[in-house]
Amino acid sequence: KNLYKYYHMPRKKFFSKETSIKAVNGVSFTLRKGETFGLVGESGSGKSTTGEIIVQLIKQTSGQVLYKGKDVSKFNALQLKVWRRKVQIVFQDPYASLNPKKTVQWILREPLIIHKIGNRREQDKRIIDMLHDVGLDESFLKRYPHELSGGQRQRVVIAAALILHPEFVVIDEGVSALDVSVQAQILNLLKALQKKYRLTYLFISHDLNVVQYFCDRIAVMYLGEIVEMGTVSDLDEPKHPYTKALFSSIPTRDVNTSETVLSGEVPSASAIPEGCPFHTRCPFVQERCKHEKPVKHELTTEHTVRCHLYD
Ligand code: SF4
Ligand code: MG
Repeated sequence: KNLYKYYHMPRKKFFSKETSIKAVNGVSFTLRKGETFGLVGESGSGKSTTGEIIVQLIKQTSGQVLYKGKDVSKFNALQLKVWRRKVQIVFQDPYASLNPKKTVQWILREPLIIHKIGNRREQDKRIIDMLHDVGLDESFLKRYPHELSGGQRQRVVIAAALILHPEFVVIDEGVSALDVSVQAQILNLLKALQKKYRLTYLFISHDLNVVQYFCDRIAVMYLGEIVEMGTVSDLDEPKHPYTKALFSSIPTRDVNTSETVLSGEVPSASAIPEGCPFHTRCPFVQERCKHEKPVKHELTTEHTVRCHLYD
């Protein structure tokens, strides 16, 4: 709710102005139990930062993360410990998130030890069950990450995230580093696991194809703000010029689609344009867009858009 994350940069010279990077700039949304909510945008849009704030890997500058209506920042030590079990994050790069010197068995046992779950035998059983759940087996127990393929490594990362039986998982570019054929396998695995363990997913990706395939609802982020949000079918007919441009950069077989082509780069988060943050790249820009910040319009109860064209 109303999340902001600003990073203050030290002044380069004593007389120069202090700059701040506005990574997340007033983001609010609600995740519903059992759904897959997609956060999509170009790099630098603030989607990863939003995900990391939600699991409280980093602290927001202001705003709240509410879990079942309760402010996570006000949790006591015990509540926080329970919360840490229920909420997990899976990162893009399985090389970086797996300790190269530890076996798969150790990697999967460590969270159980930290959270004091089961005795050794019970842990062994849980580890083997989890390996089967992610399409691996006992033969992987003694292997090291470098002995695995990219897809196998990502399966181990997923197993490590799910071994505590969380309720909610943030998947940050969870398949982006994989070959397309392996991507589909991992996405299908994540779907199956979601069903089995009744998981709620926050799925962060720059890849619209993947998000459309995988998610129930989607929020499109640009320079730290959600510019459009709706169900997957709402976003089949995108309303915000930025979403339109993003969607038309997906290659289609239909040559008759009217394309909106994005020009230029995303401005720096330390110099967000006045008015509508997208106005420097928008093909529909009007004079007022350069000064006046657009408000959020509810096109339907699910579908919202932040753009003066809908005033
Ligand atoms: Fe484009 Fe103006 Fe809408 Fe921003 S508010 S997206 S600049 S038309
Ligand atoms: Mg990212």
